[in-house]
Amino acid sequence: MFSLFISFIVIFFLSMCFNVTTASKAIQYEIIDYKLDQLKEDIERLNKRAKRLHCKPIEIIIMSEQNEEKKSGYIRKWYTIEITGETPKYKGWSFVGIIQHIDDVKIIKSIPGEDEEIPTQYRDRGAICDHCQVNRYRKDTFIIRHDNGTYKQVGRQCLKDFLGHDNPHNLAAQAEILIQVSDLACMYSEVEDYIDDVNRGPKSAQYKYFSLAQYLSWVISIVNNRGYFVSRSKASYEQRATYDIAQDLMFPIWGKMSAREKDYRESIEPGEKEIETAHRAIEWAESLIDNNEDVNDYLYNISSIAKLKAIDFNLIGYAASIYPAYNKAMEKKEESKISNYVGTIGKRENFTVTLEKVLTFENHYGLIYFYLFKDLTGNKLVWKTNTGINDLEINIPVAVKATIKKHEIKYDCKQTVINRVVLI
Ligand SMILES: [Zn+2]
Repeated sequence: MFSLFISFIVIFFLSMCFNVTTASKAIQYEIIDYKLDQLKEDIERLNKRAKRLHCKPIEIIIMSEQNEEKKSGYIRKWYTIEITGETPKYKGWSFVGIIQHIDDVKIIKSIPGEDEEIPTQYRDRGAICDHCQVNRYRKDTFIIRHDNGTYKQVGRQCLKDFLGHDNPHNLAAQAEILIQVSDLACMYSEVEDYIDDVNRGPKSAQYKYFSLAQYLSWVISIVNNRGYFVSRSKASYEQRATYDIAQDLMFPIWGKMSAREKDYRESIEPGEKEIETAHRAIEWAESLIDNNEDVNDYLYNISSIAKLKAIDFNLIGYAASIYPAYNKAMEKKEESKISNYVGTIGKRENFTVTLEKVLTFENHYGLIYFYLFKDLTGNKLVWKTNTGINDLEINIPVAVKATIKKHEIKYDCKQTVINRVVLI
């Protein structure tokens, strides 16, 4: 008798396990960047409830992103997200939705999914429960659907009797969580677009990203206008950093600008030429990683940023510096093109050269100096020595006698290696 009772319990439990099933449902939403974090937070909160109910947490998966570039240079990032949750199902019955009865107004809320929606006949039916057949005041009724296609409308109190599940409120709560998630996602995917972009100013909560090409064209205009670039580290009270000025000019807060500032902005507003240069600089920066060049951390970073196109305001200083970095690289490239070999290998000859710089290295023989010279036509000469010459000044032409050791190409540049250099 006792063992029969045990096996009855086992069978009962097994049937419970087999009867409670869940169906995974995924639904897609378009959501704007700055609302995604809020949505994630809200879902996290709902997931805490889901955990208490022992059901699988709701997941947000980002499927794709796209940039919407505004005329002002702000960029809005849109994400296509997929929300996956499990719809509770018991003995062939699954939850389709909830009807909220508020006075005479009915709010129909379907559980997000692909094909199941609350059939329209329930819209005008009132708070009737198909189980007890009593039409009384009820705040919510649940619409459930059997695998065989029949629908029922059941009051919250009757769910237990109708389904026979020992915790029907748990199932109902799971269904409600799914509906809340879908409500949230719908709410967050609606964007109020009525505020004028131009009056927001940079770093407004609504904009996290800006267009790199447009911003760089402002940087270029400022550098052309002033004749120099002021880096973040060189900026001071008297000398504002270029990235900062460019940010203020590109994203002006009109109400806070003086007439003079407005005039200045208008006078240096970038044109086609600046925009074209900006695109060239971006292409150059992108190519640094693509070409697998041996780049330092800084160049690696600006290359990564250039690939982004939609730039986070936190990276604006880096973004601005792409232009001076590009300029420097182009100058170097021009110099390399000019430089040719000079002299005959093995011979001792006279040259007029200017010293560009001296690099110092230390190895186990002691200190080694690299004297980097340029002759009057821009050809590069290198002298590797452990003595050097005293009193040689940078950028002052001097006449020297030297032996041509070899001709070589270094960093894409032709250079002549010399030794035994003496002043004449
Ligand atoms: Zn009832």
